[in-house]
Amino acid sequence: MVVHHTDCGMLTFQNEDLTAKIREDLGVDTTGRDFLPFSDLEQSVRDDIETLRNSDLIPDNISISGAIYDVQTGELREVVRS
Ligand SMILES: [Zn+2]
Repeated sequence: MVVHHTDCGMLTFQNEDLTAKIREDLGVDTTGRDFLPFSDLEQSVRDDIETLRNSDLIPDNISISGAIYDVQTGELREVVRS
C-alpha cells in the first residue's frame, strides 16, 4: 500500500526552489537534480503505483493499492484500489 499524506512538504516547493536553498544554505550545486516534488497529491499516489506496477522487482500477483492519510482528521482515503 502506498500512502501519501496531506500537508506534505513535497507539495510546497519545486526543484528550482530547493536547488536555490541548498546552494544558499550549504554552498552545494544540485542543478539538474530531481527532488521529486509534486503539486497534485492524488496524482502523486497514482504515479508511485504506476512505477511499482511497472517494476520488474514486484511480481504481478502482488496487489498494490494507494491512499491518502489526512493529517487533520486521521482519515485514510483510498485513491487506487488494487
Ligand atoms: Zn510528506
